[in-house]
Amino acid sequence: MSTTRTERSKDTQGESLHHEDLSISQILKERGVSRRDFLKFCSTVTAALALPPSFAPSVAQALDEVKRPPLVWLEFQGCTGDSEALLRSANPTVAEIVLDILSVDYHETIMAAAGHQAEAALDKTITDYKGKYFAVIEGSIPMKDGGIYGCVGGKSNLERARQVCGGAAATIAIGNCASYGGIPAAAPNPTGAVGVKEAVPGATVINLPGCPCNADNLTATIVHYLVFNKIPALDGHGRPLFAYGKRIHDNCERRPHFDAGQYVEKWGDDGHRRGYCLYKMGCKGPATFHNCPTQRYNEKTAWPIGSGHPCVGCAEPQFWDVMSPMYRRLPNVPGFGIEHTADAIGLGLAAGAAGAFVVHGALSAMRKDKEPGEDAKED
Ligand code: SF4
Repeated sequence: MSTTRTERSKDTQGESLHHEDLSISQILKERGVSRRDFLKFCSTVTAALALPPSFAPSVAQALDEVKRPPLVWLEFQGCTGDSEALLRSANPTVAEIVLDILSVDYHETIMAAAGHQAEAALDKTITDYKGKYFAVIEGSIPMKDGGIYGCVGGKSNLERARQVCGGAAATIAIGNCASYGGIPAAAPNPTGAVGVKEAVPGATVINLPGCPCNADNLTATIVHYLVFNKIPALDGHGRPLFAYGKRIHDNCERRPHFDAGQYVEKWGDDGHRRGYCLYKMGCKGPATFHNCPTQRYNEKTAWPIGSGHPCVGCAEPQFWDVMSPMYRRLPNVPGFGIEHTADAIGLGLAAGAAGAFVVHGALSAMRKDKEPGEDAKED
């Protein structure tokens, strides 16, 4: 990180630091990232993109040749959790590689420059690289009262978003707040908070919701753009299908316990210690589309359900309103089947989530409660 800060400091003094003549692999070599680590990174990101392992050499070859694009990262109404997630990524740190792959010209949380110097760096990047830079937006955008509830450098978040996202090759809305409004947009939404796409409808926006977003999905999205020269396929909520195309419930390691009717009934009970299903403790995995079970966090060692906590549905639109209370089980409303996609479920996901699911759960429980030989008695 210190190298990047030094670079940024120089950048604000007017020196060209984009290394337009160097490929990404050359830059990584300069920074001491070994070829082995680079290839390992390519394999990891290929897996994150849900591509077969045989694609890894193609990803490496593409990154060998592509030039690194500039990126600006704006912090609006959010908790900075997504920046934290990026900076605490795995080894060889994805953060290091991302920050070396990208020329992060402006990031309010980590940049050394401040005040007018920082604003000048931002203006220079979006002018010099119009249509070529990436914008990453963290946090929601307050729309009420002309957007006065979020201002940086005398400009409202809304004004900045229109200016920056409007000229970007692509905008990544990182985290649930930037994607859909998140906590600031929860009722009664006093600042009129919305996600980036709602605030700047004309921008090309990729939503990476989560609270926080998994940094590996950010890396994979950027690499996808660099390798294929286009944004990844998105679902109806603007999320990349490679990361949000599958339901947590269908990939969950506790699923066999759900099928067997084995549930945690209260915190710390025997079922909890044995890793039983968390549905009765409020798990929203049956209504949430995300690659948490496979991508995981902390060097792929852990994820919430694996650690004994129910999924809270943080990758879904308006999850603070539609998925709460956090520890109450999904309501029993018909209309949900295992074949459904995120698009089919739509915004009513929580309401429609548990029909077949609850019936299935009840049947599983009945099966479990039957005594051995009971079927024979019924015959
Ligand atoms: Fe996993 Fe939750 Fe589904 Fe249980 S309800 S199998 S814990 S996703």
